[in-house]
Amino acid sequence: MERKNAWLSYDAKQKKALTTLGEEYRKFLSLGKTERECVDLAVEEAQKAGYISLEEARAKGKLKAGDKVYATIMGKSMALFTIGKEPLEKGMNILGAHIDSPRLDLKQNPLYEDTDQVLLDTHYYGGIKKYQWVALPLALHGVVAKKDGSVVKVCIGEDPADPVVGITDLLPHLAGNQMNKPAGKIVEGEDLNVLIGSEKVAEDKPKKAGEDSKASVLKNIKDILKEQYNIEEEDFISAEIEVVPAGPARDFGLDRSMIMGYGHDDRICAYTSLVAMLNVKKPQRTSCCLLVDKEEIGSVGATGMHSLFFENTVAEIMALCGEGSDLALRRALAASRMLSSDVSAAFDPNYPGVNEKKNTAYMGRGLVFNKYTGSRGKGGSNDCSAEYMAYVRRVMDEAGVFWQTAELGKVDEGGGGTIAYIAGNYGMNVVDAGIAVLSMHAPWELASKADIYEAVKGYEAFLKAE
Ligand code: MN
Ligand code: MN
Repeated sequence: MERKNAWLSYDAKQKKALTTLGEEYRKFLSLGKTERECVDLAVEEAQKAGYISLEEARAKGKLKAGDKVYATIMGKSMALFTIGKEPLEKGMNILGAHIDSPRLDLKQNPLYEDTDQVLLDTHYYGGIKKYQWVALPLALHGVVAKKDGSVVKVCIGEDPADPVVGITDLLPHLAGNQMNKPAGKIVEGEDLNVLIGSEKVAEDKPKKAGEDSKASVLKNIKDILKEQYNIEEEDFISAEIEVVPAGPARDFGLDRSMIMGYGHDDRICAYTSLVAMLNVKKPQRTSCCLLVDKEEIGSVGATGMHSLFFENTVAEIMALCGEGSDLALRRALAASRMLSSDVSAAFDPNYPGVNEKKNTAYMGRGLVFNKYTGSRGKGGSNDCSAEYMAYVRRVMDEAGVFWQTAELGKVDEGGGGTIAYIAGNYGMNVVDAGIAVLSMHAPWELASKADIYEAVKGYEAFLKAE
């Protein structure tokens, strides 16, 4: 039952294709560090590939087989469709992945000065080990929405000429007490304050001769924010600025077999799903690719998988295809098949104890299928049906895709969830399928180029299946 390592099978041509794909993915990952940036990049790629927006499709008034449409919501989630030859009522082939990643978000009132330093207060997003976010270069990505309706995009710390920001850590010499704390307490959430300035400037001229003028670091930082980024302090109230690791994704390993980057979870599945989606031109069944927000905090809100955005968009698409009834919509959703694509924990020889070796994902062995996720007795899991697993095995084997099956850790070691169970609510067949990642949820995660290559192959085969 041991699954084969994909690297052994590659000829020179495949290795070249895999390297090119890896380079393209590195670019995507380096530019797409927030859900908004990922949507922007995906829209750009989709438009290049001939996709039109839902608004444009509505203006046209009709959709037919082969047509390509995308819809977005609040710039943070996206759905792409390629209309199939069969009516939608017969079901779609859906790829779903999430584009939000763990990070630190600025609070609404973040800016303050303490002892000649100016800092930004944060509230972390998703499951992080807080101690990993100190003493490394960080960047600020996001938007500031102004009262006049304009939106300022912010990206500071990525251009090599940019400054970076960051969170300080205690020197070992004085960390005796800190090092005796449990790891969850070494650095506490409230202490994740981002240092952004230290130059003190005079605030105004002294009122009387011989008196010192008032001086602060904050004044200078506020001036910089205003002059360079058109941001007033009060604008932080209506901003979404994410503090993320600064710098590009890199080739990893002397053999360059891996990629290190911020946000593999889950942009690695989002990117490979998107590539597959754009590669499949005239499918029999309607193809759909969902790139959703808020998975890391429970798929909540208007832009998470629990939102009606997906269902509403399918209703719009079906109406434009002349299948406008509610019953047809219900049937389409129930008859659909989905790969809920999210990263898996790759086996790590440094920490073998958390896995059960037979049911673990390994880097380089291809796309990972998790029949179930969850924790403590499969709690919260989708647990797809045996029949659907058999179907997926057949599709993958017929396309020569390297794939493996896994659980997230050994029984009662921990666990996690994905968007699978939410799509499952429609009565559709859905299984978790993703890429194995090392150091998941750390500022810099690792994945294998072979697995990225196999994922695109697998996702394409799934979309093409009749
Ligand atoms: Mn994930
Ligand atoms: Mn995650």
